[in-house]
Amino acid sequence: MSIIGLLTAIGSPGLPGARCRGRGYLFDEAEPGEPEALVAQRHAQAVQLCRGCKSLPACAAWVDSLKPSQRPRGVVAGRIRLPRSARTAGDLTANQIESTETTKGNP
Ligand code: SF4
Repeated sequence: MSIIGLLTAIGSPGLPGARCRGRGYLFDEAEPGEPEALVAQRHAQAVQLCRGCKSLPACAAWVDSLKPSQRPRGVVAGRIRLPRSARTAGDLTANQIESTETTKGNP
């Protein structure tokens, strides 16, 4: 699910002032063939937008309430969630990454 799908699913009125609105392309997971450097750059921009978003607490609480398998990939609530296979030695910190591989087997 993309960030746009997320906002649609939860209803955007629940996240007033969401800074991702209209900028979903920054938050979405990598497209097939998209250069890693470009993905890292736009995800870094998305994380910065989340850090200044007044809906960050509500957004984080909502994402945390989802089963790991339901959480969207890409950037949500200032966190980058990527498949383990997509990890690089880039500048992402451990607390910014949630790996879908670590959630396998969970409901
Ligand atoms: S915290 Fe990030 S993903 Fe959540 S509503 Fe704000 S900008 Fe969007």
